[in-house]
Amino acid sequence: MTAKLILGTEIRETILEELAAEVQAIKAKHGVVPGLVTILVGENPASVSYVTLKIKTAHRLGFKEIQDNQPVGITEQELLDLIDRYNRDDTIHGILVQLPLPKHINEKKVLNAIDPDKDVDGFHPVNVGRLMIGGSEVRFPPCTPAGIQELIVRAGVPTDGAEVVVVGRSNIVGKPIAMMMLQKERGANATVTVVHTGTRDMALHCKRADILIVAAGVPGLVKPEWIKPGACVIDVGVNRVGEKVSEKTGQKVPILKGDVDFEAAKEIAGWITPVPGGVGPMTITMLMRNTLRSLKFKLGIA
Ligand code: NAP
Repeated sequence: MTAKLILGTEIRETILEELAAEVQAIKAKHGVVPGLVTILVGENPASVSYVTLKIKTAHRLGFKEIQDNQPVGITEQELLDLIDRYNRDDTIHGILVQLPLPKHINEKKVLNAIDPDKDVDGFHPVNVGRLMIGGSEVRFPPCTPAGIQELIVRAGVPTDGAEVVVVGRSNIVGKPIAMMMLQKERGANATVTVVHTGTRDMALHCKRADILIVAAGVPGLVKPEWIKPGACVIDVGVNRVGEKVSEKTGQKVPILKGDVDFEAAKEIAGWITPVPGGVGPMTITMLMRNTLRSLKFKLGIA
């Protein structure tokens, strides 16, 4: 069997086009556009490149976008004051603080200071609670899990009654995607098992999975023989396993591998995401969707 590839790179383009059209329609009818601010403290090169990509995508969709760069020496109180200002700014619907923050700043305190109704990352305890309740309570499903669910739905993978096994229980991927897949909703309604380092027999659980979602950060953790023939395999892992010279730029670039042995797994699975190009491109896309959702909630049209 050769699995159908679920390409985040392609699905992202479709969703971005849908979002751009919706932004234009709202602008024409209501005279407003979504506003997104990204707050970047310091100049960590990885953070700079993430923020640049987010702002570029927001710009492409016709959002109002602000990249607010702050010096590494900003105090915690100054950062809290800045967030408070954006919390009260009616033209801003999404506030992002790029992590990591310098050591003298308490990340939890800063993230919890964001108005839950502008917390488009979905990490505020209020939004975690809303996600757990499900249904119309959900405001901002966290971006990577939302991207995973979108890939599953758009690939046409049946979820109703499916056995879903999630490898990993982090707050940003494992726990929220498990919670989302068990809700009594479209694209979910599955029977969910979560495995982790405390699990006695990982293989036993993985072999039962109709949908196997792997987010451990361990290259090649999931063995091909753990995959049920015809299953949908979503590989969230992004692991740097070496470096190569890019043919395009001549620069050294990291070699990335997932948590699943892709070459062997694609001969067994029914659907599979590649790494890179699978889940990765969906995260920023879902961030844009959440920012638009925030505006729609404000307008009462969500
Ligand atoms: P994390 O916070 O390190 O959590 C990893 C989880 O996997 C933990 O729950 C851990 O179990 C479990 N785990 C680790 N090794 C295991 C093993 N040998 N057997 C069973 N379970 C194991 O990682 P994360 O933030 O969720 O990220 C996971 C991976 O996804 C990383 O490679 C990350 O780079 C990638 N990621 C990609 C995107 C994207 O593409 N947009 C976004 C987020 C993350 P314990 O709880 O028992 O320690």
